[in-house]
Amino acid sequence: MARIRVLSDQLINRIAAGEVVERPASVVKELVENSLDAGASRVEIELASGGRSLVRVADDGCGMDGDDALLALERHATSKITSAEELGRITTLGFRGEALPSVAAVSRFTLHTAADPAEGGVRVEMDGGRILTVEGVARARGTTVEVRDLFFNVPARRKFLHAPETELRHCQEVVLGAAVSRPDVAFRFSHGARRLLEVLPAADVEARLSELLGRRLPLAIHRFGASGAGIAVTGLMAVGSGGARHLLHLLVNGRPVRDRLLVGAVLRSLRAGGPGLRGAHVVLLVSLPAEAVDVNVHPAKAEVRFARPGSVMALVEQGLRAGIAASQGEVEVRAFDPLAAPGRVASPSPVGYRGALPAQLGPSLFAHPAYDPSAAAEEAPSSLLRPPHSSARPLSAGPADTPFGRLIGQYRESFLLVEDEEGLVVVDQHAAHERVLYDQIRRRLQDQGAPSQRLLVPVLFEVEQALLEALPQVSELLARAGLEVEPFGADTLRLAAAPPDLPPEEARELVLELLERVQGCDGDPARVAERLAEELAASLSCRAAIKVNHRLSLEAQRALLADLAGTDNPYRCPHGRPIVLRLSQEEMERRLGRR
Ligand code: ADP
Ligand code: MG
Repeated sequence: MARIRVLSDQLINRIAAGEVVERPASVVKELVENSLDAGASRVEIELASGGRSLVRVADDGCGMDGDDALLALERHATSKITSAEELGRITTLGFRGEALPSVAAVSRFTLHTAADPAEGGVRVEMDGGRILTVEGVARARGTTVEVRDLFFNVPARRKFLHAPETELRHCQEVVLGAAVSRPDVAFRFSHGARRLLEVLPAADVEARLSELLGRRLPLAIHRFGASGAGIAVTGLMAVGSGGARHLLHLLVNGRPVRDRLLVGAVLRSLRAGGPGLRGAHVVLLVSLPAEAVDVNVHPAKAEVRFARPGSVMALVEQGLRAGIAASQGEVEVRAFDPLAAPGRVASPSPVGYRGALPAQLGPSLFAHPAYDPSAAAEEAPSSLLRPPHSSARPLSAGPADTPFGRLIGQYRESFLLVEDEEGLVVVDQHAAHERVLYDQIRRRLQDQGAPSQRLLVPVLFEVEQALLEALPQVSELLARAGLEVEPFGADTLRLAAAPPDLPPEEARELVLELLERVQGCDGDPARVAERLAEELAASLSCRAAIKVNHRLSLEAQRALLADLAGTDNPYRCPHGRPIVLRLSQEEMERRLGRR
């Protein structure tokens, strides 16, 4: 091996660029952050071919004098921190003094800046990290940085750049993030001759967001928030863009981040909110003491480390749940004491159970016999022939006998109708039961596992080689669900045991479905396992839930509604479809011409 040498600054900068500068969007991010740190009130961003051939960022910030301009291009030269203690409470976006030299090392770079126009400005031109010229020029206070031909001298990196549209999209996300994070600053963003964004200073984040979105769609924006333990989460959510992708802006103490944990928490909440949230725009602002978060953990400062990530994520999810509920105009579920409710059958009925897993159901994985219609069929369904109510009857609901309000009855043996103070509530009985089962099954999969019954005749089924190979990854999960599956020859699986309530044919399909899912999964094994357990529970609960066109006694209807109210999310089935629909009195009257 050759002797050890210390690398030249130029080479060091180019190596650092490998971490800091991944693509044009990273250049945009670093330059815009510098402009904001410089106190700019206006930032202009111009690109050509997705930023591959040009990124130009101009600001009216504090600018630099000639000496500082040259210093700024040195590695680890920063005006933002001076001591190690300050690293613990950083309030600027930059702090490492790495961005400018790194960007300059891998591009043709020009810095054009003035702190005091009376003293004149300076223009520094560089090429691959080498200074070509330094000259005095006149200019207004502020800074313009021009980055041309990114990676011209690092062909290996250049090769990995994507098509201009793709790079442009990434740049656009960065600019949007900056615009959302600093509503007080004016931004202009253009690509060639195309003006992509232009915003004047706005009063607050909400005003900025509605301006950013308003141009495309007049979306309703919902505010939400949650706080505790010195952490405050506030956010805005706009739903209904119909776009395929969510757009998330996550700000931690004002710093735009793409933190893995935060993104995960947001996406999880959105997924649980159902397909109606597809394309939601979410702005999330997390504020906490600077000491409670380390921003110095990621080369591009995209990730942060929270001292107490659990509390932060819990607040984020709690806040988002509230935001999602607001956006969906949800029905309020009240704490409800069924025994105190009037009009309730007093004698204990075989179906009048409450709570997640009633004892009388035995060890079954599924609880649907509880909603069997036979048990309390004596209750007459409401009849057309009943004497009409007096016309003076006030427009208010009767006493509640379920957590959703007063049960009216079952409609077409498929939907449960309830009235409350606001109007009419319609509950999809299949989806409701699916939700109840889903929660139960999830808990079971976590705990002791489900009961299983040996099949008299094991079911054999052929599978592709690839699916067969995926079996070891799910066999433990399947076993916990009560499914015993083993390879039987080169291309066959043998189902030897299944939960008592699951017909073997359904069990077979479930196994195939799960094996197919495994193939599509990769990443952290713990997360994959978690996702598979979720999917298994969703599949199982859907297969086992009472269907539509299934008659339920009033008692069973009440039991189902009570169970539904006790689930983690009574509004969405595990597949994300809504369970509860509301028709408000107001809407009804409007549609009937009474208002
Ligand atoms: P950092 O932002 O981590 O300090 P940079 O390499 O991005 O490191 O910038 C180095 C220094 O150059 C900054 O600390 C700042 O003093 C100065 N600087 C960079 N961009 C600007 C700008 N647009 N306006 C004024 N000063 C700037
Ligand atoms: Mg910087």
